[in-house]
Amino acid sequence: MPGEEYCDLVICNSCLWAGSLLRGSRGFMICPACGNNSLDVIPVNDYEKYSINVGNKSVEIDFK
Ligand SMILES: [Zn+2]
Repeated sequence: MPGEEYCDLVICNSCLWAGSLLRGSRGFMICPACGNNSLDVIPVNDYEKYSINVGNKSVEIDFK
């Protein structure tokens, strides 16, 4: 059981691509989908459940 492992949530402000980023990995300097460099990184602990809803111009994240 990988107890120490948790990841950050990465969201692109340009195309709203979203993905998980394992802590300790190199991470993303640019969006892998559109190449834009305006990425938001949201720290997420592994015990936090969350869901992402991607709308037309917004990203909604529910932390439960
Ligand atoms: Zn993008």
